[in-house]
Amino acid sequence: MIYTIPDYYKEFYCAADKCEDTCCAGWQIVIDKKSLKKYRGVRGKFMPKMRTSVCWLKGTFRQDKEKRCAFLNEKNLCEMYVALGEKSLCKTCRRYPRHVEEFEGVREISLSISCPVVARMLMERKSPVTFLSYEREGEEEYEDFDPFFFSILEDAREAMIKILQNRTLPIRTRTLLVLGMAHDMQGRINRQELFSCSEVIEKYRGDRAKAYVENYAEKINIPMPEKLFDQLYRLELLQENWELLLHETEAILYAKGEKAYQKIKEEFRDWMKEHSEIEIHLEQLLVYFLFTYFPGAVYDGEVFAKAQMAVYCSFMIRELWMARWVKNEKTLELDEIIDLVYRFSREVEHSDVNLMRLEKIIKL
Ligand code: SF4
Repeated sequence: MIYTIPDYYKEFYCAADKCEDTCCAGWQIVIDKKSLKKYRGVRGKFMPKMRTSVCWLKGTFRQDKEKRCAFLNEKNLCEMYVALGEKSLCKTCRRYPRHVEEFEGVREISLSISCPVVARMLMERKSPVTFLSYEREGEEEYEDFDPFFFSILEDAREAMIKILQNRTLPIRTRTLLVLGMAHDMQGRINRQELFSCSEVIEKYRGDRAKAYVENYAEKINIPMPEKLFDQLYRLELLQENWELLLHETEAILYAKGEKAYQKIKEEFRDWMKEHSEIEIHLEQLLVYFLFTYFPGAVYDGEVFAKAQMAVYCSFMIRELWMARWVKNEKTLELDEIIDLVYRFSREVEHSDVNLMRLEKIIKL
């Protein structure tokens, strides 16, 4: 079995009671069968707490009115962890913020930016992220898995990440190149010309691709966050304060019409030129989303939608930064950048329903 991880993977530590938020609030955690069985067998002093904190019918942890897990105490510590140790945690709690994408013979493990510590690690990082692979014993075979298609997706993603990390190009050009490659690959996939996808990848590795995408930018359906913004209200709501953030962003950026919005965008672009770190933050986000979701196209063939999704999520976060920058009278602190990154990720990435809905909306 091949495992792939980002190079900062081992640097992660949980801030526990020092965490500015907590992962034990907002989400309904479904307990895996093995842990549920273990919880049924808990005896002694902790038994009453266990009995009342688990919803045995649904196999989930109970939550209070603020959607905080019933085991979470006032110091933001998990009482189960304190009383029974780390091994007592269910699979989801043990793993978080690790996110695993599963493919035949491959496990790709990322760290979710919905955790403030991970969001900080990524946003403080200046150098391009690399990915490490290692092998461990274990074989498996999936029914209906196409290893050839998967290897094409891996090659394409590697080329896309290289493009995204080419800092000699503006971020818009890098994004266009990635979308252009995915767009052209999608055409070949739809025509069942999978073999010729490698030609597309090669074409976009070359120098001429830059001029090509600039000419054809109109034909590539670039997801515009401002056009898709109101769709965010249609997603499943996970955090109470998320809607407030959406209303605030909408009022600042879009309420005064297209002209006013374009003016803000231009001013923010100028400000970004003096603050080159913002473009690096965007690059890290694009790479993060692309690494995590792009190979999933092996299951549905939606190569272009996966690339669009990575661009949309990164640019939507930039809209949140832009609104905050206006609100702050044209300043933006790193702490605010991080706060908006993990709040967006919490809302979108931690609901499969939301991820699927967004992909559908972007495709339209
Ligand atoms: S959100 Fe991250 S840092 Fe905070 S408690 Fe959860 S894992 Fe730890």
